[in-house]
Amino acid sequence: MLLEVEGLCVNYGHIEAIRDISFGVEEGTVTTLIGANGAGKTTTLKTLSGLRKVRAGKVTFDGTDITDMSPEKRVKLGLSQSPEGRGIFPGMTVRENLDMGGFVRRDKAGLAADLDRVMALFPRLSERISQVAGTMSGGEQQMLAIGRALMARPRVVLLDEPSMGLAPKLIQQIFAIIKEINEQGTTVLLVEQNAAQALKAADQAHVLETGELVRSGTGAELAGDPSVRAAYLGGD
Ligand code: ATP
Repeated sequence: MLLEVEGLCVNYGHIEAIRDISFGVEEGTVTTLIGANGAGKTTTLKTLSGLRKVRAGKVTFDGTDITDMSPEKRVKLGLSQSPEGRGIFPGMTVRENLDMGGFVRRDKAGLAADLDRVMALFPRLSERISQVAGTMSGGEQQMLAIGRALMARPRVVLLDEPSMGLAPKLIQQIFAIIKEINEQGTTVLLVEQNAAQALKAADQAHVLETGELVRSGTGAELAGDPSVRAAYLGGD
């Protein structure tokens, strides 16, 4: 496993946001965590990127224990997060936001190549390279958040609800881009409320319910599971 989570517990004060969750992310795959509002999806990603401290448990990245490592060191190792919603720098331009994504890197040629790659993935961003990011539409800001995470050239990219608040056509586009990112060699850990799309995109999937992992399987297995269908896919 490239990323391994063992017995993870995270609290907000006395609230147990995550209780004893364990799962792995295999290199080259798309893995998804699905669950309702408040299930602990964002908390899990924030813990993996080092923004929340663990109460108990262990996180390993490519064999290295990163449980207590700073977020910046994790980015250097190859773990980069695209935050939920409008987690970009609103006062900066698109280009400045993308440059911030590559801040831990010194390889100029590699950065230029990755900027080209992000522009190719998101032509909309290349058209708006000088626009102040806070003036872009919600969908464009989501694209920028993903593009910024990719500028760190991560081995694993953590995507927090990339489809949130987007029109159906744009959701299709975002999922096509996630597939492309994965095909280009980046491992993806995707957190989504849009369970139908996420399960379709995922090699491996896990269901979080009130802070606990209650079900795991391939995307197809969970999409066919009657209890998952009833709870997350509108049942039938
Ligand atoms: P959503 O899909 O609504 O974003 P989520 O699955 O990402 O939900 P989290 O944001 O991880 O859920 O929240 C898990 C639990 O932790 C919730 O009960 C939430 O209220 C609580 N929580 C999250 N952040 C904080 C905080 N900063 N302080 C206190 N409680 C928090």
